[in-house]
Amino acid sequence: MRTKLTVGNWKMNGGLADNAARLGGLAGGWKAPAGREIAVCAPFPYLAQVQSALAGSAVAWGAQDVSAHASGAYTGEVSAGMLAEFGCRYAIVGHSERRQLHGERDGTVAAKAKAALSAGLTPIVCVGETLAERDAGATESVVIRQLAAVADALGGDLGRIVLAYEPVWAIGTGRTASPAEAQAVHATLRARLAGAGARDVAVLYGGSVKAANAAALYAMPDVDGGLIGGASLDAKEFLAIALA
Ligand code: PEP
Repeated sequence: MRTKLTVGNWKMNGGLADNAARLGGLAGGWKAPAGREIAVCAPFPYLAQVQSALAGSAVAWGAQDVSAHASGAYTGEVSAGMLAEFGCRYAIVGHSERRQLHGERDGTVAAKAKAALSAGLTPIVCVGETLAERDAGATESVVIRQLAAVADALGGDLGRIVLAYEPVWAIGTGRTASPAEAQAVHATLRARLAGAGARDVAVLYGGSVKAANAAALYAMPDVDGGLIGGASLDAKEFLAIALA
C-alpha cells in the first residue's frame, strides 16, 4: 500500500502565537507511524517560524504558492529558489482559490510546477471541477485537461509531483465528495498518470475533510491521503485525519 500523505493548507490564517501553539502540537504529537506522512503549508511570512518550530520533527512543511519565475521584476512574488534555500519541501500550485480569485490558468499552473521542481521542491498540483462543471458531466474532462497541461510541461518529471483532486464545490463548504465519487475521479487521474509513466504519484483528496470522514476516504484504493484546509488549523483534528 502507498504511504498516506496528509497536508495542511492553512490558507491566509494564523498569527505568531496561534502558529506556535499549533506547531508545538504537531511537532510533539506526531510520532511518524510507518506508512504515514504529514506536512503543513503556511503563509509566506510564517515559513521561517514553521521551519524553526518543526526542526528535528518528522513534520514537513511547504508554501501555498510559488512564482513561475526564477527572479526579477515580479513584485510580490516568491521564487522556488528562495523557498528551497531555507528548507521548504512542498509548494501548492493551482489551488482553486488561486485559479478563481487570481485568474491562474492551466499554463501558469504548469509553469509554477516546473519552477518548483527546478529548485528541488515538490509541487502539490491541485485540480478540480466546479459544481456547474460537475452538473454538466464535465468532471473528467476538466481534471484531465488541468493535469495534461502539467504533464505536457513536465514530461519525464511528472512522476515527481504530488497531485490533489479538490472538487471546488467541496472546498470550505462542508460538503465533501463521497468516497465513491472521490475514488472514481482518482482512478481516472491515476490512469492518466500511468499512461505518462507516473503511476506512483500520490493523489490526495481535498474538500471538507475532517477526522469524521477521513477514514472512509482514505480507505479508497486510489486515495493516497488528503489536502486539508479548515480542519488543519486544529492540531488534534489534523493529526487524527493523518492517522485515519
Ligand atoms: C483546501 O483549501 O485545499 C481545502 C481542501 O479546504 P477545506 O478542507 O477547508 O475544504
